[in-house]
Amino acid sequence: MTDLTRATAAHLSELLAKGDVSSREVTQASLDRIAAVDGEIHAFLQVSADSALESADAVDAARAAGETLAPLAGVPIAVKDALATRGIPTTSGAKILEGWVPPYDATVVERLKAAGMPILGKTNLDEFAMGSSTEHSAYGPTRNPWDTNVIPGGSGGGSAAAVAAFEAPLAIGSDTGGSIRQPAAVTGTVGIKPTYGGVSRYGLIALASSLDQIGPVSRTVLDAALLHEVIAGHDPRDSTSLNQPVPDIVAAAKRADLNGVRIGIVKELGGDGFDPGVRARFDEAVALVTAAGADVVEVSCPSFVHALAAYYLVLPSEASSNLAKFDAMRFGLRQGPEDVSAPSAEEVMASTRDAGFGDEVKRRLILGTYALSSGYYDAYYGSAQKVRTLIAQDFDRVFADVDVLMSPTAPTPAWPLGAKLDDPMAMYLQDIATIPANLAGIPGISVPAGLTDGLPVGVQFLAPAMADDRLYNAGAALERLLAQQWGGYLIEQAPELEVAR
Ligand code: GLN
Repeated sequence: MTDLTRATAAHLSELLAKGDVSSREVTQASLDRIAAVDGEIHAFLQVSADSALESADAVDAARAAGETLAPLAGVPIAVKDALATRGIPTTSGAKILEGWVPPYDATVVERLKAAGMPILGKTNLDEFAMGSSTEHSAYGPTRNPWDTNVIPGGSGGGSAAAVAAFEAPLAIGSDTGGSIRQPAAVTGTVGIKPTYGGVSRYGLIALASSLDQIGPVSRTVLDAALLHEVIAGHDPRDSTSLNQPVPDIVAAAKRADLNGVRIGIVKELGGDGFDPGVRARFDEAVALVTAAGADVVEVSCPSFVHALAAYYLVLPSEASSNLAKFDAMRFGLRQGPEDVSAPSAEEVMASTRDAGFGDEVKRRLILGTYALSSGYYDAYYGSAQKVRTLIAQDFDRVFADVDVLMSPTAPTPAWPLGAKLDDPMAMYLQDIATIPANLAGIPGISVPAGLTDGLPVGVQFLAPAMADDRLYNAGAALERLLAQQWGGYLIEQAPELEVAR
């Protein structure tokens, strides 16, 4: 039999539907792969083998009984540890949440379960999803399957690495400034940030509520579309959830036709700050889509030069408010100052937050609290919100003339672990091409575009809000053109990992 861990979700879905394999076999294959390689990769913070196999058996029984099942029923999945999972510890990569077992499921998790998808476990991330390398996790870094000495991107490096290392066919990520797309780019996987409000945020541990969006991670564009369809749609428990029909993303991923599609190359999302290898792969991708019949023009979005500055005010401000609930009283860690015998509530809070938050989180909470303080609010948070409007207007203007925008996903490929850890600014610059989409609420996809010095590079497409289907069409088309060149998907070129016995 073919190696089930290497099969796409679409292929697994067919094999399961025909009865060629059981969900127990598929799920067990993933669990065995996790046991074999995750000691090296550390994509998972928790592996929930027993409950995954139980779900698998339930799907197999339902299929045997002739029930009509969802297309991905029986296909296992990994979930970023930023989503609440009932009965499974959820940490968001933070020490302050160590030991917290949520009493409820996030809406997305509920939908995965309702679709019959066994949950393999929870994946690693930068603490509270703040970072671009997964090194800010309180539980140690994740390693990139392409080279275990380099980072897997962040904050969702765990989900991307799990999919790239064939530990899971699919994963869930969350993207506040690029945390699905940049890890996808540097691990040779596919990642989508849906339109803001397109997927419920209920049960996602909030980082910055006006930017956060949950989305799919996969090895192919079609697989991402199949997963997107499971998790998308209105949820009354999320007040920002869109109450509109989800575009037909699966059909778009199958269409994969660039003929007559108008593509804008954003002048501001390229150039000098981008690694030459990234630019080379990007230019090749542009040549391919042009040859495939797309109508490619250069466009300018002048406000994007302020996007990073605006993001790093909006995000810390909202995070300082969202993370105020970690007060030592309600969740996880609680400790008093060592030298005080009967500490006050304030002393317990201060001591717990000091011990439970890492440096990057503290840096952003201090910045955000300052930016929101009276007297500074207008100068910082208020100005950042104005920049946000200008960015949205730039998008509106260019989308009057083009269907999708195209840029590199990240300015560099993956770098050695530790190399940027002491330089927050260098880490923040990784987000340069991904954050405009979050600031404007529009969707984006990252698709593998080849290698530079043996490490993956991603190309990003952006589309107007609610036009997520355009991303799937363009992404699948580029994927197909590249696969013709390579004789398969890029991920198939990933090096074999040492397997533990
Ligand atoms: N790198 C970005 C940050 O550190 C992305 C965060 C995210 O999307 N969760 O804020």
